[in-house]
Amino acid sequence: MSSTHPAYLVFIGPPGAGKGTQAAMLEKKLGLKQVSSGDLFRENLKNQTELGLLAKSYIDRGELVPDEVTIRMVQDRMQRPDCDQGVILDGFPRTLEQASALDAMLASQGSKIDLAPVLTVSDDELIARLTGRRVCRNCGATYHMIFNPPRVEDVCDACGGELYQRSDDSLETVRNRLYVYYKQTSPLIGYYYAKGLTTFIDGGQAIDVVKQALLDAIQTALHGK
Ligand code: ADP
Ligand code: ADP
Ligand code: ZN
Repeated sequence: MSSTHPAYLVFIGPPGAGKGTQAAMLEKKLGLKQVSSGDLFRENLKNQTELGLLAKSYIDRGELVPDEVTIRMVQDRMQRPDCDQGVILDGFPRTLEQASALDAMLASQGSKIDLAPVLTVSDDELIARLTGRRVCRNCGATYHMIFNPPRVEDVCDACGGELYQRSDDSLETVRNRLYVYYKQTSPLIGYYYAKGLTTFIDGGQAIDVVKQALLDAIQTALHGK
């Protein structure tokens, strides 16, 4: 898919809605770069940077990392050349403050958000997904023990890396992350709805069905087909 100006998509949905899974599948197909704020924090954590250590205290409690550092981290990442064709944002923005900072940044470079797909999933399903989620220690690919298992148990299909369970995917932290989503992030749905940018997709469907629905909506938004 080629377009004259870079495309910017914002995937919105509660933790476990499938944002990361879908963004990873669609980035190559759409020629866009997936930028996941959660992955960026976890990379910093792995490399024991100052930012990683700061983020850890929030991530462990299922709270949001403060806006200022989060915005700077994502903006820096979006300036790199591999984002020139555009970006799928996954997990950012998560507050209204982050959303307006993103708008200002894009406006300053003559760009804008093209679409903000909202993935809707029931809380019971989210809890089942998050507590069964497994992630590759090496490449970050996401699996589910039951819903999306790797070919070989605990081994990444993509790179052979070891799969692990994120410490914030415990039931207790998951409950708080859902609370934080509804309180602090769900207002973004209204924010983008008012701009005519939302499209609502039933994220409770099978992975491939969600993927096709997203692809249809994105292609219509980018090319008016
Ligand atoms: P998010 O990035 O929104 O937090 P993920 O993409 O990490 O969500 O998905 C959460 C968990 O649910 C993962 O274990 C993933 O394999 C699984 N999953 C993703 N999409 C679906 C789906 N449509 N049906 C069932 N399980 C899914
Ligand atoms: P999930 O896949 O469950 O939605 P993420 O990997 O996106 O989770 O995020 C994990 C944690 O990283 C969050 O609970 C939060 O502490 C932190 N985080 C990620 N993105 C943001 C953001 N945009 N603003 C503040 N904190 C964030
Ligand atoms: Zn891997």
